[in-house]
Amino acid sequence: MESLVARIKQDGTVLGEDILKVDSFLTHQVDPKLMREIGRVFAEKFKTAGLTKIVTIEASGNVPAAYVAEELGIPMIFAKKAKNVTMTDDLLTADVYSFTKKVTSTIQISQKFLSEQDKVLVIDDFLANGQAALGLISILKTAGCEVAGVGIVIEKSFQTGRALVEETGIPVFSLARVAGFDQGQVVFREADL
Ligand code: 5GP
Repeated sequence: MESLVARIKQDGTVLGEDILKVDSFLTHQVDPKLMREIGRVFAEKFKTAGLTKIVTIEASGNVPAAYVAEELGIPMIFAKKAKNVTMTDDLLTADVYSFTKKVTSTIQISQKFLSEQDKVLVIDDFLANGQAALGLISILKTAGCEVAGVGIVIEKSFQTGRALVEETGIPVFSLARVAGFDQGQVVFREADL
């Protein structure tokens, strides 16, 4: 997605060896126009796939996922990272190690929102080592859902996530693919969409 790549070049900042900071348009402050375009690109790809739900993980996945869901006219579910008192239903859970926070959390989705009739697209802001995506896939498989794919806004292709997701047989569709960082600059490779 050319406009996304241009925006990363313009506003993204490389932190250390392997982190890309995009807090001015995606992970903290949000650019709704760009998000709408992201929603449309994924929706165009999956409009005839018979999707019934979009699933993501809080917090930064929520924004692109909501725009994709809105374009497709289907609900979006975000996995929660902490249990709260209102979550009284049966929960489906998975343990996920966070690449940026360096802690493991148990992510959870209420069982009532997923069924064997669901065909799901997973959406997330970043794909690094794939732990968030694999945790979501594990929950979706437990619920008996069909997983149509994993849609990613920014994939860091030099990390292991894509290969690990593809090993499960589920395809990955990334709007921007980062090959690496070179002296503080982001080097891209050809994206999927
Ligand atoms: P994974 O589970 O694939 O290792 O990491 C994915 C999650 O970690 C994403 O949901 C995202 O929140 C966070 N993440 C991973 N790499 C980056 C990065 O380079 N920049 C930012 N802002 N978040 C990242």
